[in-house]
Amino acid sequence: EGEKEAEIDYVFKVVVVGDSAVGKTQLLARFTRDEFALDSKSTIGVEFQTRTLTLHRKRVKAQIWDTAGQERYRAVTSAYYRGALGAMVVYDVTRRATFEHVARWVEELRAHADGSTVVALIGNKADMAAARREVAADEGARLAEEQGLFFSEASALTGDNVERAFLTLLEEVFAVVS
Ligand code: GDP
Repeated sequence: EGEKEAEIDYVFKVVVVGDSAVGKTQLLARFTRDEFALDSKSTIGVEFQTRTLTLHRKRVKAQIWDTAGQERYRAVTSAYYRGALGAMVVYDVTRRATFEHVARWVEELRAHADGSTVVALIGNKADMAAARREVAADEGARLAEEQGLFFSEASALTGDNVERAFLTLLEEVFAVVS
């Protein structure tokens, strides 16, 4: 890994936030390893996973940070947000409360991250929407529009829209930094 570092043109830090159990860890696992791990929750603490990809002929290392359970026990610290170029605010389309807390997460982001941080809103667990939906897709779209965020529903379980959501976010970050 070390000798490959020289080939990296950019490192983009992206933070994932949202209520506990909305699927943050699984979205990250899907994007960085194309995996959905049943019960892979690691110990409490800030962690990140990386995936290196090519954007506009530049090697970009996406460093995706996971709260790893911090949100359950205490406020996510400002160190978590520091230097984040992109952020994903995640809610669970089958749990209304997680959508109602989105504004709070966006405020927290705005307070701690840079003004230029690109933010995406993700309604996760779309695979369960047919049976258990509590948030309509247009509600998500409307909120995102109000807050000036990119929006997508997605499923970490099936992989639907996960790649597209992360790539769109990374493309927007690229446009800001390059
Ligand atoms: P976090 O606390 O936000 O990191 O949430 P996790 O990634 O640990 O996921 C919480 C629970 O939701 C776990 O039981 C996951 O297996 C489940 N989960 C996560 N993403 C999805 C999804 O897209 N669809 C379904 N059906 N379950 C999911």
